[in-house]
Amino acid sequence: RSPIVIRSFLLRTYASTPSPHALIFLEQRQGQVDSGSLSALTAASQLGGKVTGLVVGTSEHVPAVVDKVKKLKGLTSLLHSTSELYAQQLPETLSPLLEKLLSGSEYTHVVSTPSSLAKSLLPRVAAKLDVPSVSEITSLEHDASSNSTTFTRPIYAGNAISTIRLSSSIPIKFFTVRATNFDPASFEENQEIEVKAVDPVDVPECPTEHISTQLTKSDRPDLSVAGRVVSGGRPLKNAETFAATLNPLADVLGAAVGASRAAVDAGYADNSLQVGQTGKVVAPELYMAIGISGAIQHLAGMKDSKMIVAVNKDPDAPIFQVADVGLVADLYEAVPQIIEKLKQ
Ligand code: FAD
Repeated sequence: RSPIVIRSFLLRTYASTPSPHALIFLEQRQGQVDSGSLSALTAASQLGGKVTGLVVGTSEHVPAVVDKVKKLKGLTSLLHSTSELYAQQLPETLSPLLEKLLSGSEYTHVVSTPSSLAKSLLPRVAAKLDVPSVSEITSLEHDASSNSTTFTRPIYAGNAISTIRLSSSIPIKFFTVRATNFDPASFEENQEIEVKAVDPVDVPECPTEHISTQLTKSDRPDLSVAGRVVSGGRPLKNAETFAATLNPLADVLGAAVGASRAAVDAGYADNSLQVGQTGKVVAPELYMAIGISGAIQHLAGMKDSKMIVAVNKDPDAPIFQVADVGLVADLYEAVPQIIEKLKQ
């Protein structure tokens, strides 16, 4: 073979395997960066290539958010787009911007936290580009030589792990990241990266109008990222008993409060507190399940917690199969005693 042939072969190989370049949607609400975005950034960094962040919002919040996130370890550049159009972050208004950024670009991956917004935004843009979107991945591996990315994600309420490989035939690979499986990216004070403003994309005939947002306000730690969680189930009787029993325990531990779906459906707790398959997935240092049976749908949301403590009066309750510490007792007797001991 002549050297010229070999060189052209190498060039072709290089051209067909672009190094990864992820675009990560760094979600912010009222100037606060979603903590799940920091874990998504860690996952994006594991692709082994460049990572560009995207911050979108109004002039009231974007400058402060940009100042903060440009120090995020793992980001190689940052884009931001500012417009009143993005005051309410709707998939209908954000997707044209993402489509424009991706069109003809070198991005190989689009990454986000699996927030309510991203659950609608990423599949919407992926569908427009006729590529798949993989949700709530728990691990990833990128093979640069074949330009394929392999993900794992839990299915059947966490009872099986599915492995999905997106090959080089998928030019842009979309995925959301389960925050409990990746440490949040840290901040590096001295980091200098390229920061660039991009024009918003107008949506003249937006089919959706934002009417109102009702936010649940709480002084407690955010359930999704709290280091300690105290959750209650059906035997907490009603909203008053639920709060009167669990809040003092959560207070003494500095914990967030969670709930089973039975407790949420019965109106004892707000549905933002639901833990499980159709609620939040948490993996705190300490998870206390108070009067929760341990149905698989509940376990799907908390079984990766580092230490699980269960209080249940039924010794055969399934929660004891995953608990590190189990107390067979009536919760109304046990919880006040636990609080007393903790105070001591
Ligand atoms: P129960 O199952 O009624 O259990 C109550 C427990 O409290 C029992 O074990 C009992 O022994 C114990 N107990 C009673 N009195 C006392 C007492 N005085 N002291 C101590 N212990 C006591 N559930 C979720 O939690 N999260 C989800 O995201 C979720 N998603 C679902 C999705 C689907 C598609 C379906 C079908 C179900 C889902 N569920 C979910 C519901 C789930 O199957 C269970 O019904 C629910 O978790 C039960 O809640 P619980 O443990 O509070 O109530």
